[in-house]
Amino acid sequence: MTVILDGKSLANKITEELKNKTQSLTNKPKLAVLLVGDNPASQIYVKNKQKKAEYIGFESLVIPLPKEATEDNILEHIYILNEDTNINAILVQLPLPDGINQKRIIEAIDPIKDVDGFTSYNFGRLALGYKPYTYPCTPKGIIKLLEEYNIELSGKNVLVIGRSNIVGKPVSLMLQQKNATVTMANSYTQNLREISKQADIIISAVGKPKFITQDYIKDDAIIVDVGINRTDNGLCGDIDFENAKEHTSHITPVPGGVGPMTIAMLMENTLELYNLQKELLL
Ligand code: NAP
Repeated sequence: MTVILDGKSLANKITEELKNKTQSLTNKPKLAVLLVGDNPASQIYVKNKQKKAEYIGFESLVIPLPKEATEDNILEHIYILNEDTNINAILVQLPLPDGINQKRIIEAIDPIKDVDGFTSYNFGRLALGYKPYTYPCTPKGIIKLLEEYNIELSGKNVLVIGRSNIVGKPVSLMLQQKNATVTMANSYTQNLREISKQADIIISAVGKPKFITQDYIKDDAIIVDVGINRTDNGLCGDIDFENAKEHTSHITPVPGGVGPMTIAMLMENTLELYNLQKELLL
């Protein structure tokens, strides 16, 4: 029987734990979000993050900037947030409008307020196997979800499809630290089907609807579907869920799998940064 990896209920459990921990704090953790431009999906994501933060009891500040904002305008806001001791966590909602140098913006965030773990300081530490201030939210959520279901990673063949800086690369590093044998695929990979068939665990972060079907999956493999694809029939992942499900031992649904875990990890990172900053002041 296939086990559904229920990210939604684990995320709810983590959210309640964070809420309890936050209740006893006199000064509340504060998350600042920079939202540049009017991308409708970004506006929804930011609203959901803000709602979740407020539910937990965090303070949240959303700074909307017009799509015409220049790189210098955005940087000025980041410098102010870096200096503001009331702000514990800074998030720049991606993607930024065309013409803005995303690298320059992310790098301006003080690493100790880098709630997404995207700065080269935090990412570099992760790559070197040192503890970063924060781990990127989606990879951290994936590992937590697998651990919640007692899925052993050590010695397993894991295929990560996609090599983005926000999912594929960091999750592959985190899996290696758990002693998994990691293969990474990208759009140039030859014979993906054959490679997939060898994997005990497949983590797909491609962004192509129903791209992975049962013929890519070894019997009883474990499947983590990171993809979020909007189609005429609603949201779906990279995995053809109905087609593949019976061949897997565990699989994440879309929606309700990795997505809610990502937001829960953003909240967890906010509280972790708050605690870290408090410790440094002692
Ligand atoms: P991305 O920047 O969109 O890049 C896609 C990756 O897939 C690239 O590395 C690309 O390879 C690779 N790829 C494309 N076609 C391929 C193929 N035929 N075979 C193998 N690899 C292929 O990646 P992303 O930002 O990680 O996003 C991926 C998906 O995850 C999207 O649907 C996104 O919405 C979703 N996502 C979900 C969450 C969540 O919380 N659930 C979080 C983040 C992202 P190249 O590098 O060679 O181009």
